[in-house]
Amino acid sequence: MQDCIFCKIVNKEIPAEVVYEDNDIMAFVDVKPVAPIHLLFIPKKHIPTVMDLEEEDAALIGKIHLVAAKVAKDYNLEDRGYRLVTNCKRDAGQLVFHVHYHFFAGRPFQWPPG
Ligand code: 5GP
Ligand code: ZN
Repeated sequence: MQDCIFCKIVNKEIPAEVVYEDNDIMAFVDVKPVAPIHLLFIPKKHIPTVMDLEEEDAALIGKIHLVAAKVAKDYNLEDRGYRLVTNCKRDAGQLVFHVHYHFFAGRPFQWPPG
């Protein structure tokens, strides 16, 4: 996708602080962090929103959860844990239309969110 900022990060056309990468998934530091640790986990495949996911993408999304848990261990978050959140479309405040999961950690978070 030509004008997608996250595809540009995947293609190394714009820089990012990458903390995990394999053939399917990338994780990098959010440019405007709202938590001591704020990462974004994305599939390398361009999918605009989670409502555009297809049956064939199920394993990819499952893998994001597995990779997030692995990265959490790298950050020594076994005890404290983390929050993994995806925003879908306008009411959720989605700004970048390439599926991504926010990974928040390093402080307590309110529930329910505002
Ligand atoms: P959304 O509201 O779509 O769920 O969140 C998009 C997130 O992407 C925001 O937290 C924003 O700070 C982050 N973001 C937007 N552009 C860039 C960028 O160029 N690099 C990085 N690392 N994060 C970005
Ligand atoms: Zn994209």
